[in-house]
Amino acid sequence: MSARLEDLPLRDDLRGMTPYGAPQAPLSIALNVNENTHPVPEEVVDDILGQIARSLHEINRYPDREFVQLREAFADYLGEGLTADQMWAANGSNEVLQHLLQAFGGPGRTAMGFAPTYSMYPLLTRATGASWIAGTREPDFRLTPDSVSAQIADAQPDVVFLCAPNNPTGTPLELDVVDAAYEAARGIVIVDEAYQEFAPHDAPSAVTLLEGRERLVVSRTMSKAFAFAGARVGYLAADPAVVDALRLVRLPYHLSALTQAAALAALRHAPLMLGMVDEIVAQRDRISATLEALGYVAHQSWTNFVLFGDVDDPAATWQALYDRGVLIRDVGIPHHLRVTAGTEAETTAFLEALASIDSEA
Ligand SMILES: *Cc1c(COP(=O)(O)O)cnc(C)c1O
Repeated sequence: MSARLEDLPLRDDLRGMTPYGAPQAPLSIALNVNENTHPVPEEVVDDILGQIARSLHEINRYPDREFVQLREAFADYLGEGLTADQMWAANGSNEVLQHLLQAFGGPGRTAMGFAPTYSMYPLLTRATGASWIAGTREPDFRLTPDSVSAQIADAQPDVVFLCAPNNPTGTPLELDVVDAAYEAARGIVIVDEAYQEFAPHDAPSAVTLLEGRERLVVSRTMSKAFAFAGARVGYLAADPAVVDALRLVRLPYHLSALTQAAALAALRHAPLMLGMVDEIVAQRDRISATLEALGYVAHQSWTNFVLFGDVDDPAATWQALYDRGVLIRDVGIPHHLRVTAGTEAETTAFLEALASIDSEA
């Protein structure tokens, strides 16, 4: 026996919402949620195990609430003169974004992003009681400083999301757009750099803009480049005052001792962990070139995935790939599909499956 959702005294503003739900299907080639499909190297696994084992000796105690060592490690990793008091972390950057919305959004307030963009922004916004405002992009999914500042001036949001590079389109975002957004906004401006490590090595991070901009926040994750999606570790860099605000809304001891230990050990191996990034970028560019040769439009990507258009029937192509053991993502953009760059073998499997569908059609 089970009641229906409608039978429960659910918050009015949650009625009719659908939860995040990328399929978790047991296919051998899963290229649908932009994970890093390379396993963590064995020597890093060993080091993580050692660090977790040591933390177990004190697991009867609550963890360091301020996760100081980890914040120092994130500051070192990002460089640019950042210090631990500018860093924050949580269980995935999704929780980091939730903390930001709890502190700076909430009931009666608004958050804005530029569609199509990361599907979690409106969900997190609404779940924390604020309203979502969907701005727009150019036809090629780019953002320009003029358009962004005009849209922000018009909507006056309390929180602005800039996804850089953008998911699900892969589109780069120039720092002059970030600056224009910051000047136009009265609220917090969040630059979500979940995929920054996959951008060209000389592409500057919005971290370089933090000095003197106390409403600017740069969010990062270990889920993608670091091959750490299962550990749930995201972080941000901002003015120390922003970090003070987040302490008001986080749950006490939100980052477990096991999570802190695992992240700390993985960060010690940053160069090795990131060694896979160049290989993934090579596969991404191979996907784009092959898709173009097959007659699709591959959108420019600075991420570990490619959004491609000119797909006659995305649902049919998605299903045909599924039937061939390859899972990709229909992100709901008409005539488009999105695929994550996998290992060389996975990428080959995807491209060959797609080519075989085309030759049948
Ligand atoms: C994958 C992704 C994240 C990361 O989420 P985690 O909670 O850190 O796993 C954040 N932002 C965007 C745009 C993403 O695509």
